[in-house]
Amino acid sequence: MNQAERIGGLLSESAFEVLGKAKALEAQGRDIVHLEIGQPDFSTPAHICEAATEAIAQGYTGYSLTLGLPELREAIATHISATRKIDVGGDRIIVTPGAKPLLFFGILAVVNPGDEVIYPDPGFPTYRSVIQFAQGRPIPLPLVEEREFSFRVEDLEGLISDKTKLLILNSPHNPTGGFLPLADLEAIANLALKHNFYILADEIYSRLLYDFPHHSLLSLPGMDDRTLLVDGFSKTYSMTGWRLGYGVIPQHLISALELLMLNSNSCTCTFIQKAGIAALQGSQDSVQEMVKAFQHRREILVAGLNQIPGIHCLTPPGAFYVFPNIKELPLNSQGLADYLLNQAGVALLPGTAFGDYGEGYLRLSYATSLEQLQRAVERIGEAVAALESAPRW
Ligand code: PMP
Repeated sequence: MNQAERIGGLLSESAFEVLGKAKALEAQGRDIVHLEIGQPDFSTPAHICEAATEAIAQGYTGYSLTLGLPELREAIATHISATRKIDVGGDRIIVTPGAKPLLFFGILAVVNPGDEVIYPDPGFPTYRSVIQFAQGRPIPLPLVEEREFSFRVEDLEGLISDKTKLLILNSPHNPTGGFLPLADLEAIANLALKHNFYILADEIYSRLLYDFPHHSLLSLPGMDDRTLLVDGFSKTYSMTGWRLGYGVIPQHLISALELLMLNSNSCTCTFIQKAGIAALQGSQDSVQEMVKAFQHRREILVAGLNQIPGIHCLTPPGAFYVFPNIKELPLNSQGLADYLLNQAGVALLPGTAFGDYGEGYLRLSYATSLEQLQRAVERIGEAVAALESAPRW
């Protein structure tokens, strides 16, 4: 007896693996600073929690329609129409348990075996994983530090073939914190029209862009019918464990996504959908406070890392990650990440957890308190200074 071959294509997610290792060290009495997981350390705002308990009391405990509660789909459509400056109706919205299922469903819905899918490298590991699961051909699009972890549109064009079915974009970007400016999005949109492919635009960090306005591919002419926009509540409202995400899907793909959802989840938890309406329609003060706090933490962490000889860190414009260059140090990404966890008690991720082009970098999440960030910088500084005499991994 053995498992199906298709499972072999699925990849793991290092953030959860490193979290497991860090927890095991904590169980042995070690003190660990957690910078590995992409999860805001703020509580979910009280009015959202209250809306969920109220919804339970009101009996929102049964199934909802597969695509989501009509009132939430309408609220999302209103939010998207305002923030992306296009006119979207609730009929184009699908609500899912977190944004991640939409990456899975979106790729499965459009990729046939042998189709080529271009995806960012370094990038969120689920992209490559699901492309492989769908028996597509993963084509990495290298993101380069010299371009603030973006790419030249000419380089993207060089990867396009007549088999290209889908391009995956993530702006603001995990793991680098980079983003795509409007001029790049316009050039990419022209390529999509010229070469006729879909774009999955993962905009889960759309509200976490500190120095620039967020622009969405969906707003550009001709993109409405070929863009699968993914967004959600996890990061913006500190709701990672609630599992609530959504997609804006071309009309001709809605029934495919509905079938995938129907055959896996049936629907998204009904009272959590009610809480989602409160999140979108209630006060946004807590979002603004969180964004301000992240911005301050980013400055402190970037400045602290740049004080450490051998580490060079750009100031990333978005998300809550930094992606420092460690190429001057004598260990590779994995070796340094292991060393820092075991010797210094700092849990973070090697750049290679996000693809081969992540070699020479680390990823640190600053979705944690200032004290923890300061402690991490001190520990990393001391451990790096001791590196010459440390064992090689
Ligand atoms: N896309 C990206 C780029 C992410 O970083 C994450 C979460 N780490 C997700 C999607 C998934 O979000 P959710 O928790 O809503 O499933």
